[in-house]
Amino acid sequence: MKKIFGIVGHPVKQSLSPAMHNAAFKSEGIDAEYKIFDIDPSDEENLANFCYETDLNNIAGFSVTMPYKQEIMKYMEEYDLLARTVGSVNTVENVDSKLNGYNTDATGAIQALQEKTTINKEKILILGAGGAARAIGYSLKEFGADVYIFNRTKSKSIELAKEFDLETIEFTQIADADFDIIINTTPVGMLPDSGSSLLHAEQMKGVKVVMDIITHPLETQLLKEAKKAGAETITGARMLLHQACGQFEIWFGKSAPIEVMETALYEELRNKD
Ligand code: NAP
Repeated sequence: MKKIFGIVGHPVKQSLSPAMHNAAFKSEGIDAEYKIFDIDPSDEENLANFCYETDLNNIAGFSVTMPYKQEIMKYMEEYDLLARTVGSVNTVENVDSKLNGYNTDATGAIQALQEKTTINKEKILILGAGGAARAIGYSLKEFGADVYIFNRTKSKSIELAKEFDLETIEFTQIADADFDIIINTTPVGMLPDSGSSLLHAEQMKGVKVVMDIITHPLETQLLKEAKKAGAETITGARMLLHQACGQFEIWFGKSAPIEVMETALYEELRNKD
């Protein structure tokens, strides 16, 4: 019987994940379909019911996106170490009617960075202190990087830095701090507000690599500014691709067909332009 996978979130109809996963299923000859599960957050029973009815609906696994990455944790039987440590699940596997939670966001971000740079001793600035910043900040620190956080709400950056032994920085100090890598994890610059950027070229002089984890638009204003400053850039699509490959590997226990998923992702991005 055909296995069902999908993405749980709200709003989620713009998701790029169905294109990548359905292309992977097809190329690997897997009898499965990846759907969109847009769950209305106005009633908290909706997420609970979705989780309780996974067997009934033949759901073998699913991705989780905003606003459910934390809330979904209460329906998990077990978590992987990263999901437990950072308190966020983006991947669920249904094993013998038990839901297990994983986090592939951080590994996705790290693999995207490693396409352009090393990260073990680098001085890295993360913009934002939300769920993605937590996962990425913790993982980069584990790699040995020197990680700094800047966040609009200062108390949250202080809290995050304290929890994972990171540093904080004031906005006015960023330009002179000699960062090797800058990563934006805030939604600033996301469509429809695509002209905005937290940093401008003059604040990124000497920075080697700038990654924006936003996927819409593909080239954000921050990345345009980074190019002006002479930095290499990495789009949110690279992180999205690698986190999706991590999900495929959890669900099927084998390497993901990355080229197939990459082609499907970029075709979908062109269609959504
Ligand atoms: P989150 O937990 O809501 O955190 C958002 C962060 O952005 C907070 O630190 C918030 O600061 C900051 N922020 C929000 N609006 C801001 C503004 N106008 N100016 C300055 N800072 C602002 O969200 P998240 O789960 O970390 O996700 C963040 C982004 O990453 C989303 O756009 C999401 O789509 C994207 N994402 C991409 C991928 C990928 O694979 N490419 C994966 C995961 C997430 P305050 O603390 O001050 O509110």
